[in-house]
Amino acid sequence: MRRPIIAGNWKMNNTRTDAKALITALVPLVADAEPEVVVCVPFTAVETVAAAAKGTNIAVGAQNVAWADKGAFTGEISAAMLKDVGAEYVIIGHSERRQYFGETDATVNLRAVQAIKNGLKPIICVGETLDEREDGETERVVSSQVRGAFEGIAEGMLANVVIAYEPVWAIGTGKTATAEQAQETVAYIRKVFASLYGAALAQKTRVQYGGSMNPANAAELMSKPDVDGGLIGGASLRAEEFAKVVNYKGAAI
Ligand code: PEP
Repeated sequence: MRRPIIAGNWKMNNTRTDAKALITALVPLVADAEPEVVVCVPFTAVETVAAAAKGTNIAVGAQNVAWADKGAFTGEISAAMLKDVGAEYVIIGHSERRQYFGETDATVNLRAVQAIKNGLKPIICVGETLDEREDGETERVVSSQVRGAFEGIAEGMLANVVIAYEPVWAIGTGKTATAEQAQETVAYIRKVFASLYGAALAQKTRVQYGGSMNPANAAELMSKPDVDGGLIGGASLRAEEFAKVVNYKGAAI
């Protein structure tokens, strides 16, 4: 009942020329995909990619959004600006933002509210570090990140929210969580979400796995009942590779 959603996170890669080439190559390769397909691209490429993806089954997203409508926030990009250039989704609270740019659960919450209020669909990232996993802290960490991200957000605002479970130790490292680890923590996240908003909404809300997902491991990760999609970094930068993840059905497990 939850349609899988595979989202690429291009991070800080691709000029507009590169972006146009990548999206143009991707369009035919995923045209018959069953999952929802999203590419979250650098701010400067949103308009170019949205124009190239217009009329296709690929939605375009950004990788951050300001928590204010407008004003003295040098370097920030507002939700209205993102919508203006064709963004439909936005990644919020990616671990690289938390690690390098001081993003906290409180700022994730503010950005999520702003995205939702403006009709952007947020992909809210949570996940533990390697130390936290080894210390048995995974559930405590993701629980507090989920509670923090959704603080004060009313149930009626959550129809288009996606959560991404991204263990920090698996991002960009080539070290994937096992399908069992992904299932266990994604199911736990759904349980926390259910404790906040009830089982019915939790059953409808999609929770992705992210962290070195690629054509070789996508089918197995996606076979798990609570894993509703993937947030894909490195493998989203090559059209054929990303398309294989999107078209994971049919790949051998
Ligand atoms: C990410 O950037 O969200 C990510 C999961 O990256 P990678 O697939 O490269 O690990």
